[in-house]
Amino acid sequence: MKAFEYASPRTEAEVVQLLSAEPGKTEILAGGTDLVGLMKKMIVTPDRVVNIMDVPTLKSIDEMPDGSVSIGAAVTLDDILAHPYLDLYPAIKQAIRGISSMQLQAQGTLGGEVCQRPRCWFYRNGDGLLGEGVASGANEFHAILGNSGRAKFVNSSRIAPALIALDAQLRVLGPDVESEQFVPLAGFFRSPQREGQREHVLAANQFVTHIILPPIEGRTCATYEVRHGEGPDYPLAAAAAALRLDGFGIVHDANVVLGQVAPMPWISQEASSVLRGRKVDAALAEAAGEAAVSRATPLSQNAYKVQLAKVAVKRAILLAAGFETGGF
Ligand SMILES: Cc1cc2nc3c(=O)[nH]c(=O)nc-3n(C[C@H](O)[C@H](O)[C@H](O)COP(=O)(O)OP(=O)(O)OC[C@H]3O[C@@H](n4cnc5c(N)ncnc54)[C@H](O)[C@@H]3O)c2cc1C
Repeated sequence: MKAFEYASPRTEAEVVQLLSAEPGKTEILAGGTDLVGLMKKMIVTPDRVVNIMDVPTLKSIDEMPDGSVSIGAAVTLDDILAHPYLDLYPAIKQAIRGISSMQLQAQGTLGGEVCQRPRCWFYRNGDGLLGEGVASGANEFHAILGNSGRAKFVNSSRIAPALIALDAQLRVLGPDVESEQFVPLAGFFRSPQREGQREHVLAANQFVTHIILPPIEGRTCATYEVRHGEGPDYPLAAAAAALRLDGFGIVHDANVVLGQVAPMPWISQEASSVLRGRKVDAALAEAAGEAAVSRATPLSQNAYKVQLAKVAVKRAILLAAGFETGGF
């Protein structure tokens, strides 16, 4: 590991002051379950690490008078699971339970989960994030959607699809303490165009302070993951759905977001269009799944993910609408 300076500020303002405008010079440290491994392998080599776990304002979950909820970026995944108000947002708790690791859930934070770096094994082995070798190499876990550019990795966050489906916003601070922005999570991720560019829109001297969920207001939601097994490993494909149904089961509004299939959480307008104005049943959910993958362009070894993504969308919709989904 490269030697680095360690800072442990107590306020959001101090965090911002410690961040460099130059990419790669400083890194935010939350639970460290992703960052420390990357530093040990010299894939990430900051001069300064800024620990945000001692900033009290980043560690609370606050219910707002309008029914929205603000979750500090340094809140652990376990604290989210334990919070009764967040039972109103089952898609989030389902995604966290999918991690299936007591250690990662106790140590990992919501901000870190959303901002974690891709699990792409080319990247993790030091070959860069946008390497030429992916298109013809071992790409069975890579993207099937949004992969026409240089980026062919998948965004690894399990929780981001649910947060996007629920119209979450991020509170972002920096480059100075007066510069507060509220950014829809739907617009936060991007597909990098060149090596060194991050997978999100934050400047190097900005960080996420809070994740804000709007009031649930009669919406239902669910996450469904297709996984190898029950252990702590990433899903092969996942989807989150948030639906507003009327008393007859007709869909008024639908957000469908796929995970683990594209360089960013993949918002499927196609699936939402299929659902809107119709009554949810297995056939409709299946049609939405078909629509969600209609633009898939699998790589040489990952065509199997198209079917898995379709199943994930179908089952997320059925779960959100209150159906049992059964086995495969
Ligand atoms: C063996 C192993 C298995 C894993 N398995 C899974 C898994 O199955 N599913 C899964 O989802 N994850 C998994 N992870 C990944 C990771 O541990 C979790 O996603 C965790 O939630 C990351 O949170 P953290 O607080 O530890 O992040 P950190 O490691 O502290 O940070 C992760 C990244 O986000 C940045 N960051 C953190 N907080 C902020 C912020 N507030 N603003 C801006 N940037 C920020 C950091 O600079 C860093 O780049 C695994 C990790 C390991 C080591």
